Amino acid sequence: MTGQSGEHERTMAFAEIALGQIKALRQPATPRNYEIWYAYASGHYPSLNQKINEILAAGNAPTEADLEQIYGAYLAPARFSERLDKVGNQVMDEIDQVMAMIDAAAGNASNYSESLADASQKLSQSRDRESLRAIVEGLVQTARDMQESNQELEANLASSKREITELQSSLEMVRSESQIDPLTQLYNRKYFDERLAHAIDEAHATDEALSLLITDIDHFKAFNDNFGHLTGDQVLRLVAMSVKQNVKGQDTASRYGGEEFAIVLPNTVLRSAITVADHIRRAVMTKELMKRSTGEHLGRVTVSIGVATLHKGETAQSLIERADACLYTAKRHGRNRVVCETDPEVEAAKVA
Ligand code: GH3
Ligand code: MG
Ligand code: MG
Repeated sequence: MTGQSGEHERTMAFAEIALGQIKALRQPATPRNYEIWYAYASGHYPSLNQKINEILAAGNAPTEADLEQIYGAYLAPARFSERLDKVGNQVMDEIDQVMAMIDAAAGNASNYSESLADASQKLSQSRDRESLRAIVEGLVQTARDMQESNQELEANLASSKREITELQSSLEMVRSESQIDPLTQLYNRKYFDERLAHAIDEAHATDEALSLLITDIDHFKAFNDNFGHLTGDQVLRLVAMSVKQNVKGQDTASRYGGEEFAIVLPNTVLRSAITVADHIRRAVMTKELMKRSTGEHLGRVTVSIGVATLHKGETAQSLIERADACLYTAKRHGRNRVVCETDPEVEAAKVA
């Protein structure tokens, strides 16, 4: 009892500290932020505390991007591997049970062959009808037992098979959750990094084109400030949907950062990549936004997109930097536009 109430007081103290921090730093009280500050108060993750302390020591409050990064680096992986372990243990238990069933079946089968051998010996010695009948009845009974235990084994194996199939699909779900951004349901940054590295290797090996788009919502901070973070989240979902609807096949759309999306376009030359980018840009700007709960009109948002195509032997980092530089030029030249390196603005920036 004392143990439980001690635990209660301790966890309540962590909770209070966590809420205190959220209030003091005026951060959105989202479950993710609460989890971060709770972990901070508990001191369970020393590197998380170190990271936050560095930010606080510099006189700053952690930004949205910091929090996202901290969560991704220290909390999401811990949770993921915990769940993976759990599913893994369940699979092991299930396999143990199947093995035990097979052992039992093997035992039954060997009993059966022993009774057969026994019966055949008795048969060879038997002289009268009565003893013959007893032997045959014994054999029929053993065969029946064997059939019953086979049926039982079959039923058990079928239920284990169902169980294993379910576990496999939950393993699949945990794995896919580790690749998906929960807010937008696009792939997350970690998956993007892996996918891009793989696509670049392929492109170099096959000499195929590969393009990359980096998309950033224009003046999104102002949108959040005007309409609130939760409405901002809805808009992020909407933009993500516009991105998704305009890519297909081998293309990979992911949430690259807070309000940034990256799209990997294998086998796609620059011209086609610009067309895809422009479709996304138009799809976003034509959506009239409305707050569902109140019907309030929120205007529209726009996106700027930087486009780059892979050079021979180029690394992922260099490709990302070039797409990012184009995005930056798009921002400087008024936003709501698609820019690639062959555009005159970029050429002019290079000369300058
Ligand atoms: P620019 O046109 O130059 O891109 O201006 P901006 O305001 O979009 O750029 P800035 O990088 O200053 O601000 C990005 C903002 O995106 C900050 C934050 O308010 C918002 N943001 C980032 N992640 C999220 C999120 O997950 N949800 C919401 N609602 N807003 C987010
Ligand atoms: Mg941005
Ligand atoms: Mg922006």
